[in-house]
Amino acid sequence: MKNKLPLFNYAILFLFIFIFQIFTLTNSYAQIFNDISSDYEFYNYIEDLKQRNIIDGYTDGTFRPNNKLTRGELSKIVTNAFSLKADSKSNNFLDLEETDTFYDYIITLNQLGIINGYSDGTFRSYEKVTRGQAMKFIVNSVKLSDNEKFVEVPQWTIFPDVDESNTFFNYINSATSIKLNDGTRIIKGYSTGEFGVNNNITRAEISKVISQTLNYYENGGTFEPPLTYQEANNELAGVDENNEILAIYSIKTDSTITIIREYEKTDLQVNEQMWGIITNVIPENRIQNLSKFNLFTDGEKESLAGIYRDAYNLENFNFMIDYLDIYQNSTINETLLEYATIHELGHIISLNSEQITITKSLYTAKTIEEMEEMKGIAELLCTNYYAFDGCSKDNSYINSFVNTFWTEEQLNRLEEIYNADTDEEQNQLLNDFYWDYENDFVTLYALSAPTEDFAESFTHFITHERPEDTTFIKDQKTEFFYSFPELVDLRNDIRIHISEDTKNVDIQSYLL
Ligand SMILES: [Zn+2]
Repeated sequence: MKNKLPLFNYAILFLFIFIFQIFTLTNSYAQIFNDISSDYEFYNYIEDLKQRNIIDGYTDGTFRPNNKLTRGELSKIVTNAFSLKADSKSNNFLDLEETDTFYDYIITLNQLGIINGYSDGTFRSYEKVTRGQAMKFIVNSVKLSDNEKFVEVPQWTIFPDVDESNTFFNYINSATSIKLNDGTRIIKGYSTGEFGVNNNITRAEISKVISQTLNYYENGGTFEPPLTYQEANNELAGVDENNEILAIYSIKTDSTITIIREYEKTDLQVNEQMWGIITNVIPENRIQNLSKFNLFTDGEKESLAGIYRDAYNLENFNFMIDYLDIYQNSTINETLLEYATIHELGHIISLNSEQITITKSLYTAKTIEEMEEMKGIAELLCTNYYAFDGCSKDNSYINSFVNTFWTEEQLNRLEEIYNADTDEEQNQLLNDFYWDYENDFVTLYALSAPTEDFAESFTHFITHERPEDTTFIKDQKTEFFYSFPELVDLRNDIRIHISEDTKNVDIQSYLL
């Protein structure tokens, strides 16, 4: 969780345009299939494909939109829809007979590299197609003619049920990124926010995807990832678009890590060593609150580390480290890493679900505007301090901390800083704020938000000797933590493990 100043200059990346189409039926009286009426949500797509002779109904005149498709059937639809042809006709599948109704289509798609069957050499023509598999069919077909747009697929997980290790991760991210000129997408997830990767795709759903993809071919569009869970999360966490993800590890229950994705070269041994230092600082029971360990960079300086809420499990956090800041001149800067880890631990102990009531709707919002609206409402309803993405509980650390130390005037000043029109004005206000309250904050970064003040004061509490004199508010903030025996135990424990250099150090000029 970091608070980046200037805060609110971010561009709104993903603007969703909802167009309510008023359509007139050219063929007003003819019903295309006797089980589908013109007000059915997939009617237009089914009609479109029917007119193009890409799909047909059953002999009894029905379409049966909720029936599931087989892999063979989908092969035929895709081949016809995109007019695909292949020269060679060799059969690479152990279970595919020439007598199979869909033989030619399957062979064609295989020759073009669109599908390659299962690793055991079978194709399983009569198996039902999952939504994940269907995206592979579609994306690979589109790629054939539109290759360059599919090189950069979103690196973040868009759907909570499709993580980076999913076979169809890239295909799903690509397919959901195809946006038509009218603002619609060829496919979205369910309204629950999930993609339904393992659900079988229905005839109605595939009609929509194919019809929309043809529309994309004919009328153009853009390749833009949607804003859902992870991006909303990044937005909240202040992870900006300049951040480049280098590697993603999943944290196992025994606190060790396994790599799930490596995007850019990092030294895996260095990553492991960094993780070793982190787990030396964070106690075992708190490691259990972490899901992923991510290496990223935004270049040197700026962000150093961060935690953000895990989209799959809001009880947990993901931990991120700027690889280039920590690993300089082929050496891990141990002090910097220990300091950053203690700071993030300060967030973990104060922002977990035992301490605050998380506003879950922030993570299902589909646009930044919707997310901000939800946050505004949640903040209004919260009678305690609203900490980052949730309402702090009555006896929580952060609520006590803010009530004890932050005056109404200071909170208003901060609000004013956030709302400044220009960077210049913001810096001026920030500067004034700092000089007016120089003795209230342990570091300059601490005044960027009460949550950051908490984390920085916590870090001071861990790394510094107990203050002898508590005249200044910044020393009272450090002293605050001594009133919690469990935090004193934690301090003693961490101080055994960290290097002497980290004690009494003050780190400035990074975002944490
Ligand atoms: Zn922080």
